[in-house]
Amino acid sequence: MRRKGLASMAVQTVATETPAATGTPATVDLGPASGLSCRECGTRFPLGPIFACAECFGPLEVAYDLPLGDPEALRERIEAGPANIWRYAPLLPVPADVADKPNLNPGWTKLVKADNLARELGVEQGKLFVKDDSGNPTHSFKDRVVAQALEAARAFGFTTLSCSSTGNLAGAVGAAAARAGFRSCVFIPHDLEQGKVVMAAVYGGELVGIEGNYDDVNRFCSELIGDPLGEGWGFVNVNLRPYYGEGSKTLAYEICEQLGWELPDQLVIPIASGSQLTKIDKGLKELIALGLVADKPYKIFGAQAEGCSPVSAAFKAGHDVVRPQKPDTIAKSLAIGNPADGPYVLDIARRTGGAVEDVNDEQVVDAIKLLARTEGIFAETAGGVTVGVTKKLIEAGLIDPALTTVVLNTGDGLKTLDAVAETSQATATIKPSLEAFRSAGLAG
Ligand SMILES: *Cc1c(COP(=O)(O)O)cnc(C)c1O
Repeated sequence: MRRKGLASMAVQTVATETPAATGTPATVDLGPASGLSCRECGTRFPLGPIFACAECFGPLEVAYDLPLGDPEALRERIEAGPANIWRYAPLLPVPADVADKPNLNPGWTKLVKADNLARELGVEQGKLFVKDDSGNPTHSFKDRVVAQALEAARAFGFTTLSCSSTGNLAGAVGAAAARAGFRSCVFIPHDLEQGKVVMAAVYGGELVGIEGNYDDVNRFCSELIGDPLGEGWGFVNVNLRPYYGEGSKTLAYEICEQLGWELPDQLVIPIASGSQLTKIDKGLKELIALGLVADKPYKIFGAQAEGCSPVSAAFKAGHDVVRPQKPDTIAKSLAIGNPADGPYVLDIARRTGGAVEDVNDEQVVDAIKLLARTEGIFAETAGGVTVGVTKKLIEAGLIDPALTTVVLNTGDGLKTLDAVAETSQATATIKPSLEAFRSAGLAG
């Protein structure tokens, strides 16, 4: 792997400029990552636990010294790698020996060819796929982003991992911290689903319920970072956000590799803060730039729940800015009323010829059951949102049923049982006798 001398220089500056990073080692090895750059004005910064541009307050992104070279050799190297996200270590802000460190090794989840669902939705056979990220260690896509943030936290010398969470992130942080020997203290809205609360607590870290919604939790965490109370803490989605976001690129890499190193034509991606969607786009563009896939147009579709659809509303109104909403939906993992990456999502949907659409809670439940009954995949409400939106976009003629479509399921239905519990009950309850079973009329 090529590495710039810049990396070590960069970090010495960080140690003096960012007092919050107490204990930052003199050198930081984050593999091919060469610095941070502002998404708005392009200003470069050294690698460090910073997330906003000092010039214009725009969001910072990881910049790379990517291994440009023979794509065939890189492809072979990736294919020979472990069956988790670390097969893409040459393209991520992680040290080369990352696979040897204690972490949860998420990723390489199934890309399911969903022919039964395709038949129901009127999509050509062999063209519809579900990328099922419920197969990750804590049963949501969040393990991918946390694994990246953990490496950044290690590199910057943090000893406590933290986050503001809509539920899944808290569990992913708790588990990753437990495995890596970090302390964790995570913050969630107090009224989350039981499955999310239990999963966030069971790994033994501190779990704090905040009386408010996610946007209140996030605001609180931003205050905590600026306070001595939060000193030495790595907030995976705040001061480590640039690194965190890179984890979502692995979804793009895996989808293309699993399609035989080809870009899909259409992707349907859920939107909470919008980070995942923007980074999947970044990952696809990198694969093209590296020559790992042939360049062709692809369309990105964003999916929201009607009860929290600020990006969808802006898309439909033709606005460039996203007006915050107060969330009220069963899709709590997506319930961010003021999404940080909203404007970038709008830009990507428009640039690629995609769209942003939403479905109501009833449609979410129907879609969860549709996916379960056709493909044997039990999705959480966020998966109901993407499948429901896919159905709606096919019916509206915006998704072409003759082209390859990948729909993301980002979480496990066991965490949001309430959504379907009422309508998913035993068909019959009977005495343990053949007579009783015959009477129930279920034989044959
Ligand atoms: C966090 C989350 C997302 C996407 O979140 P972004 O903030 O948009 O990156 C999608 N699905 C589930 C289940 C999640 O927990």
